[in-house]
Amino acid sequence: MMKSQQKIKIVSSKENFIKIIPIVRKISDEYDLCDYCTGRLFAKKLGLSSNKLLGKKIRAFLEKKLPKNCYICKNILSNLDTYLKKMLEISHGYDFSTFVVGAMLKPSVTDRDDVIRSKFKLRGIDSVKTDITQQLGKKFAKKNKTNVEHISPDLTFTINFKKDYCELKARSLLLFGRYNKTIRGFPQKQTPCNNCDGIGCVSCNFHGISNFNSVEGKISKILYDKFGCTKTKFTWIGGEDKSSLVLGKGRPFFVKLQNPKKRKVRLVKKYHYDGIIIHDLKILDQIPKQIPKFRSKVKLSVVAQKTINPKNLKLLKGLTKIPILILEKTNKGNKKSIYEIKYKKSSTNSFLLWMTIQGGISIKRFIEGNSIKPNLTEILENKCTCKQFDFNEIDLLK
Ligand SMILES: [Zn+2]
Ligand SMILES: [Zn+2]
Repeated sequence: MMKSQQKIKIVSSKENFIKIIPIVRKISDEYDLCDYCTGRLFAKKLGLSSNKLLGKKIRAFLEKKLPKNCYICKNILSNLDTYLKKMLEISHGYDFSTFVVGAMLKPSVTDRDDVIRSKFKLRGIDSVKTDITQQLGKKFAKKNKTNVEHISPDLTFTINFKKDYCELKARSLLLFGRYNKTIRGFPQKQTPCNNCDGIGCVSCNFHGISNFNSVEGKISKILYDKFGCTKTKFTWIGGEDKSSLVLGKGRPFFVKLQNPKKRKVRLVKKYHYDGIIIHDLKILDQIPKQIPKFRSKVKLSVVAQKTINPKNLKLLKGLTKIPILILEKTNKGNKKSIYEIKYKKSSTNSFLLWMTIQGGISIKRFIEGNSIKPNLTEILENKCTCKQFDFNEIDLLK
């Protein structure tokens, strides 16, 4: 039974092969094609997977020599090893297990492919571009023991056949972490590179920043070294002042690493760099669309213009019972809460303040009375300024 079934299959594939011969002859009389391109035109119809083998078989049947120059691909398909070499070179040192190959062909190549397909009414076949990328994918996968993946590949190669070069992009990595700032005197955000204004240039190593004198810069420095990425894009959970410390469990942040060379990094508990400690660093599948809600425990040092009236100072206790209205130009106001408040006078016109506040209250504005109601200046009837504030804890809310 099995034998006769097999026989039928062989006969039918032979029959199908015979069927394509008249059209194959016509094409080959008019055009010189390489084995890949000849095979590609009929492989799907015959249910075969190797274009090259089929092309060779057809050529043997027609008793033709391999032409010097393929009309469609101009021998790109027979010379893919040159491009494979470029792919291997450019991806050297990258961590990856999946990849995808894209190609930019001269329009004339696709035009000639279209000419043949429409002239001989060949439907449902792979385009020359598909074949090129597939062949390269197969070759590269075999060399590296990796896999082609289209949805979310670790590496994306784009081979420009017009200009003869290969581009490589590594999929971004998304991380969550927390940082402590243990030294005063540097801001949270980094100023962009002077030369390129943050776009990325040779002088900043394509990082977009060339100094590392901020929280952003220092964390980036650690991440560049660890992951070999080009740029870092931060989503901060709140911010602090240049003169602030960030203590406790640290401030949470999300960061997107562009074009990371290393993606299988073994993360350690803590990274120290010049007044910054990063901890809880972990790789995420995605960054949440909405920034998580949080509350902060802060310690402030406040100075008033005149002597402080102790009666007014006592009024601060009431702040936990009323909403704090943050007035923005664009909306009617945003209500926030102060959960805890404690104070200690340090002189006739200065005091320390400890508060637990909802994320989103600007501390300086709350002290000075800038578009926040109520505020310290108003309650104390005394112009207040914030000399310094530190974050003792920042808690994410679920
Ligand atoms: Zn060809
Ligand atoms: Zn630059």
